[in-house]
Amino acid sequence: MPSASEKRIVMKFGGTSMAGIERIRHVAERVRAEANAGNQVAVVVSAMAGETDRLVQLCKEAAALYDPREYDVVVASGEQVTSGLLAMTLQGMGVNARSYMGWQLPIRASGHSAGLIDHIDAEVLEGVFAQGGIAVIPGFQGVTEAGDVATLGRGGSDTSAVALAVAAKADRCDIYTDVEGVFTTDPRIVPRARKLEAVTYEEMLELASVGAKVLQTRSVGLAMRYNMPLQVLSSFEDKPGTLIVGDDKIEEFNMERVLVTGIAHDKNEALVTLTGLPDKPGTVAAIFGPLAAANINVDMIIQAAPREGEKSELTFTVPKGSLAQAVAELDKLKDNGGFESMTTGTNVVKVSAVGVGMRSNAGIAAQMFHTLAERGINIRAISTSEIKVSVLVAEEYTELAVRVLHTAFGLDDKEANAGAAA
Ligand code: ADP
Ligand code: ASP
Ligand code: MG
Repeated sequence: MPSASEKRIVMKFGGTSMAGIERIRHVAERVRAEANAGNQVAVVVSAMAGETDRLVQLCKEAAALYDPREYDVVVASGEQVTSGLLAMTLQGMGVNARSYMGWQLPIRASGHSAGLIDHIDAEVLEGVFAQGGIAVIPGFQGVTEAGDVATLGRGGSDTSAVALAVAAKADRCDIYTDVEGVFTTDPRIVPRARKLEAVTYEEMLELASVGAKVLQTRSVGLAMRYNMPLQVLSSFEDKPGTLIVGDDKIEEFNMERVLVTGIAHDKNEALVTLTGLPDKPGTVAAIFGPLAAANINVDMIIQAAPREGEKSELTFTVPKGSLAQAVAELDKLKDNGGFESMTTGTNVVKVSAVGVGMRSNAGIAAQMFHTLAERGINIRAISTSEIKVSVLVAEEYTELAVRVLHTAFGLDDKEANAGAAA
């Protein structure tokens, strides 16, 4: 364990931060500075930006229905390259660093392509810390019971980092990326987005799950469960980032508590509309039962209530990647009289407003609908939770919808890029 003044920190660097030797050298300098400040440091790295996409594409070209075990062997390799390169670079700077693959720690995981971490043995890491060394660990990968490589789903290096921080009982997990922190919305879409000084686990979890891909959703869930403080900050600029903390700590930030904390969007939904459903008990169960059995997540649902004796209509969304399978399952039901016709669409986007402040304010959904209506944006489906309102709109309105909602909920940074706002 580190002495009282030292901290134990897991630093994670994303794909843009690791893209090329020049940037890896810069990362190595940041790592060395953290260690020189008297802290114990372990590092988790992503593959170079674009590399995992490239490897996934190669798998698709090799076999339309590829084996998930072999997919993991291929796609995990990007992180193996960057961890070795960072360890070499650190060694070249005189730092006692070494790479440790998932199987060497080991990071035990089950399942392929979106594997879950079961357990991380902290013994090897403790040994490295005890000798004043720095372990460089490839993110995104673990090892199964059978000794095979497993990967943790896209964006999974965040989860590797948090899981390692938990296993090593670190004081903090720092996620270094290509933006300065968590913003009120994706700063690449809205230049007037504001960096948040702090955000609660709960809000970050909801934001990530509705499309704010700055953190993999699972990593936030894990941090929340173990109360691991997270920080999101820039690899390139030496500025304070965003702290992700529990409800109890957020008060310390003396933040002006707003109703809506952030806006996110997700283009990964597909719309399914079924018409001619019999108006009787069990109709909807007969539709969603087989989809659930096929492991297809249904998200937003709208059922049009028919007049007495008339047939009803059902609209819902599924992940784009599951649409073909959903259609195949539904076709079977159609043949059995479950409904009369089916239409599907993929040119849609889900736009969501998230904030714990919503709990005490009933007007958020109404304000959201009004703001979109004013811009002539039609809402196709709606879903809500205690701290979130989501609407589904045509994909062509993505930027406009995000921007007008950002403004309507008072999130715009008044000083930034005034000319670029709506
Ligand atoms: P890394 O490779 O470092 O893991 P990612 O691409 O996974 O980086 O995540 C960072 C990106 O997340 C940013 O470049 C930004 O476009 C996007 N993003 C989406 N929503 C937000 C948000 N609310 N705040 C900050 N970044 C966001
Ligand atoms: N390289 C993996 C991906 O692109 C994991 C990560 O970077 O978090 O999904
Ligand atoms: Mg990421």
